[in-house]
Amino acid sequence: MAEIIRSPRGTQDIMPDASYRWQYVEGVMRSVVERFGYSEIRVPTFEHTELFDRGVGDTTDIVGKEMYTMNDRAGRSITLRPEGTASVVRSFIQNGVLSGALPAKAYYILPCFRYEKPQAGRLREFHQLGIEMFGAYSPDADAEVIKTASTILNSFGLKNIKLEINSIGCPTCRKHYHEVLKEYFRAHYDDLCDTCKDRLERNPLRILDCKSPVCAEIAADAPSVLEYLCDDCSAHFNELKNLLDEAGIEYTVNPKIVRGLDYYSRTVFEFVHKGAGAQGTVCGGGRYDGLVEYLGGSACAGIGFGLGIERLLSVIDSEGIEIPKPHGPDVFFCYIGDEGKRKARSLTFELQKAGYYALYDLNARSLKAQFKYSDKLDSRYTVTIGDGEIESGSAALRNMSNRQEQSVELTAEAIINMIK
Ligand code: ATP
Ligand code: MG
Repeated sequence: MAEIIRSPRGTQDIMPDASYRWQYVEGVMRSVVERFGYSEIRVPTFEHTELFDRGVGDTTDIVGKEMYTMNDRAGRSITLRPEGTASVVRSFIQNGVLSGALPAKAYYILPCFRYEKPQAGRLREFHQLGIEMFGAYSPDADAEVIKTASTILNSFGLKNIKLEINSIGCPTCRKHYHEVLKEYFRAHYDDLCDTCKDRLERNPLRILDCKSPVCAEIAADAPSVLEYLCDDCSAHFNELKNLLDEAGIEYTVNPKIVRGLDYYSRTVFEFVHKGAGAQGTVCGGGRYDGLVEYLGGSACAGIGFGLGIERLLSVIDSEGIEIPKPHGPDVFFCYIGDEGKRKARSLTFELQKAGYYALYDLNARSLKAQFKYSDKLDSRYTVTIGDGEIESGSAALRNMSNRQEQSVELTAEAIINMIK
């Protein structure tokens, strides 16, 4: 197939007959996060490259090798959003939101762009629901954010999702842990993948997150971050666990979770689909208390998560959960002849005006073809209008689910009375 009629690698169309799945999932997500106090924010699709360099971190895979970066016509470097947090922080600083009432909350449902190797569950353009909360340092905020994600996943009735939590400490306790980790990995230097060799001095924590099997095997025996937490970080983590217990949210502590982004502190968490392998993380998030200040605002706590919508949809499918299909037209008008067409058209418009989903055939084809089309659209009722019907002022109203016909007067009012 010619290149021009093929979408770029790692992108996909959400087709008209499948978009209801997205609308349904997005509707559920919106209604849950709004109940937790989040309002929608819409940020630009591209930002100054420096925002992501700083806000995501230049030791991350995202900044190192996954960004869609280009110069605009004025020679300014811009980048397509690889994730949402940096943009929301930028916007909240720029618009003075953080000097207002706190905590301040926002959510978004947006496409993100990463130059990754396309495979199942890994696209170059994918979609995220994200929530961000600013100005709350207490573990209650961590617990509430985790509860928000878990409420979303539960509202679809998902069974095979497990929550894993960890704490990666604050910059103070992490400094010590970094040294311990470096020492451990230096002893395995030759076996590490090239990327991890590079990570070793710059950000050894990231090696724990490497997807290469050899590095994962080495990382399995690495010292646990939890043993190096300072008293404050430790108390924060213990309180979070208490709060999750109190809320009846099951979790396991996994000291290998570090998250792909540089700006996290203390709590990190993932919701993982059991048995889905490397692309099993449906939702990942954590606390990023240093980010606002790092990007030029006043010190302000931050916490949030990103939830991959493509991955959520595939988990919903894999668990056999049905997403309700929207219904077809309430009435489809078939006709023969010019008079029939005129009547079909005017009744269609009247029904639409009254709030019903009505269509008439635009192609004046054979009755058989019109019926077939009506069936394909999954219409509830079909009305057929020919010269005889115009003359008598009534027509057959066919119920498409049981194929039974009733006579109906050819007025919008009479039709509406019979279908409602
Ligand atoms: P992974 O470890 O799978 O690469 P990540 O740590 O890079 O994920 P985040 O940056 O935390 O992911 O993004 C949040 C969520 O967005 C992920 O948990 C996942 O559901 C989804 N996601 C991330 N990258 C992709 C991608 N390339 N294609 C589809 N979904 C993605
Ligand atoms: Mg990734």
